[in-house]
Amino acid sequence: MKTDASHALFTRALDLLPGGVNSPVRAFGSVGGEPFFAERAEGAYLWDVDGNRYIDYVGSWGPMIAGHAHPAVMSAVETTMRKGLSFGVPNALEVRMAETIAAMVPSCEMVRMVNSGTEATLSAIRLARGATGRTRIVKFEGCYHGHGDSFLVKAGSGALTFGLPNSPGVPKPLADLTLTLPYNDAAAADALFAEHGDDIAALIIEPIAGNMNCILPREGYLRHLRALTEKHGALLIFDEVMTGFRVAPGGAQQLFGVTPDLSTFGKIIGGGMPVGAYGGRRALMSQVAPAGPVYQAGTLSGNPVAMAAGLATLDLVRAPGFHEDLLRKTHLLCDGLEAAARDAGVAVTTNRAPAMFGLFFTDRKVESYAEATACDVQAFNRFFHGMLRRGVYLAPSAYEAGFVSSAHSDADIAATVEAARGAFAEAA
Ligand code: PMP
Repeated sequence: MKTDASHALFTRALDLLPGGVNSPVRAFGSVGGEPFFAERAEGAYLWDVDGNRYIDYVGSWGPMIAGHAHPAVMSAVETTMRKGLSFGVPNALEVRMAETIAAMVPSCEMVRMVNSGTEATLSAIRLARGATGRTRIVKFEGCYHGHGDSFLVKAGSGALTFGLPNSPGVPKPLADLTLTLPYNDAAAADALFAEHGDDIAALIIEPIAGNMNCILPREGYLRHLRALTEKHGALLIFDEVMTGFRVAPGGAQQLFGVTPDLSTFGKIIGGGMPVGAYGGRRALMSQVAPAGPVYQAGTLSGNPVAMAAGLATLDLVRAPGFHEDLLRKTHLLCDGLEAAARDAGVAVTTNRAPAMFGLFFTDRKVESYAEATACDVQAFNRFFHGMLRRGVYLAPSAYEAGFVSSAHSDADIAATVEAARGAFAEAA
C-alpha cells in the first residue's frame, strides 16, 4: 500500500498544526501509525492522495448518511453558492430549514441554527440555565457534547481516546457545576437528583451513546430520566448531534418515544457543511435573543450554502423506507462481522441502531462505560490496521461508533466482511 504522499503531507502538517490535525481523533494517536490524507470522496468510498480507496464507515463522523458527494446535495450546493456565499441578512433557506426540522422533530417548535454541534450544546445549556435560574448540569461519563468548557468533564470521543476526559484550561469552579452519572444506571440518577435536584438546570444525554463506542439505552431508561427531570423541574436535553435524522426521521426521540425539552443537532443537518442547531418548546426557545434575554449569536449562522446542503440531505433522509434499509444494512454488516470473528476464534460483540453500530472485542454484551472501556483496545487497534490495509476505513479509535450510509451496497458490506476475516485472524 502506497503512503508516500500522505506521509509527506503529515510531516509538513506536524510542524504547523498541533498533532498535525485540526481535530484530535484524526491523528490516529490511539491506533498508532499516521493518518491518510483525503483526495476525494464519492458514495461509500474515500480516496487518499496516494490513490488508495477505502470503504468508509466514518462518513465524516456522521454527516454523510446519504454517501459522499451525493448528486442531489452537490447540485443544491452549486446552485445556491452561485447566488453568494453569505448574506448577513435572513434568507429563505433558513425558514425552510426550521420548517423541515419542526416537521421531522415535533418537540422542536422553534429552532436556532448555529455552526457546529459544540455551539448547539453549549447554547442549549446556557438557555437551560437562563430559563431555570439554576446552575448545575448533569452529563454522563463517556458522553461527548463537543468541546464546551462545561462538557469536558469525564468526556468521551477524542477526550476519552487520548486519556484527557477532564481538560486543563477549564476553570475548576465551572467544572464543579457539571455533575456526572454512569450511563444506563437509573438508581445512580435517582440518588443524584435526590441530593442536588433543586440546583439542576438540565440533564444532557446522548440518547444512544456514540462517543464511547456505541451503547444503547436500556429498555425504559430514557423514560425514567424523563420522569426524574420533570419531577425535579430540570430540563431534559437530548444531544442528537449524532442520532438526529440518523436512527429515525425524528431521531432517537422518535425511535424511543421519549420527548425531551430541548434537542441539539449537527452533522446530518449540514450534509457535510458546518452546521448545528438547537430547538425545543416555543416557551423555552422564545427566551433566546432577540425574542428573549438569553444571548446567543453567529456571523455565519444559517449560512445559505450550508442550509442548501442540509435541506438536500434531509430530503433524501425523508424518503419512505430510508431508515428501514439502513437498519437492514447495519444488521447485515454486524451479523457478518460477528460471524467472521467467530470463525477466526476472536471474541467480538456488536451493538446496533439504524445506521449506527459498535464493535467490541469482548464476549459480553456492552451496556455501560465500564464495560466499553474494559474491552481489548490493542486487539481493536490491530484489527483497525488490518482493515485499513484491506481498503476499509473504520473510526481510528475503539471509542467511536461506526456509521452506515445509504451509499453502502450489499456488495460493499460483503467486501467489508471478507476483509474482516483476514483482519480478525491477524488481530487474534
Ligand atoms: N454532540 C455529539 C453527540 C457529538 O457526537 C459531537 C461530535 N462528534 C458533538 C456534540 C460536537 O459536534 P461538533 O464536532 O460539530 O462540534
